[in-house]
Amino acid sequence: MKECPFCAKQIQDEAIFCKYCHNDLVASVATVTSQNNAVLTTPKFSAIRVSRVKTKWAPTVSIISIVAGVIGLVAFASPLVGNLLGLTAIISGTIAANAGENKGKIGIVIGLVDIVIALILIMSNI
Ligand SMILES: [Zn+2]
Repeated sequence: MKECPFCAKQIQDEAIFCKYCHNDLVASVATVTSQNNAVLTTPKFSAIRVSRVKTKWAPTVSIISIVAGVIGLVAFASPLVGNLLGLTAIISGTIAANAGENKGKIGIVIGLVDIVIALILIMSNI
């Protein structure tokens, strides 16, 4: 015999459900086990949650990235400006993407195109 953790009545050792309060004893054992492992598992779970939750500023940074990238695309008159805007787009896009904002990846791609175009223009001027 053992004591039900919910109603404290004496029940069979093999019991899965308490016959008095009908609580699930297997689930309660699993909860206790996971609490014992909490020191090991909690940091991992919280790290996964942090990486999946978007931060409040991430969408703004991704928009900055895309805007900088698009301006860089039309800044053909000055390859240097195009390069700087491309770099801005890649850096801010990376920050936004790391914070869980997928639009940041668009900024990274546009930024890379900026730099490629700017480099082609610089090369062709030499
Ligand atoms: Zn019970």
